[in-house]
Amino acid sequence: MNHFCREASQLQSDAFERQLTLSEHIRLRIHLLICEACRNYADSLKLLNSFFHNLRKQVQQDEGITLPDSDRERIKEALSRTSDSAG
Ligand SMILES: [Zn+2]
Repeated sequence: MNHFCREASQLQSDAFERQLTLSEHIRLRIHLLICEACRNYADSLKLLNSFFHNLRKQVQQDEGITLPDSDRERIKEALSRTSDSAG
């Protein structure tokens, strides 16, 4: 993982908590265009984010926590892709 990958992953996690500036956003988009490892990381983040979003919704609705096998497989696959291609 090089300097740009570290910055890109930092920007991606920042994006969940705050609005990125225009120049941060552009740097991130350009890096994702050229770097497959970070694209995979972005996919995993999106997947995890929607997973936690659904989880929160379920907890709020008091329906109990269930995770379908298909979701579990998708998360596992996304995470393994990220660690395989990182670096
Ligand atoms: Zn990268």
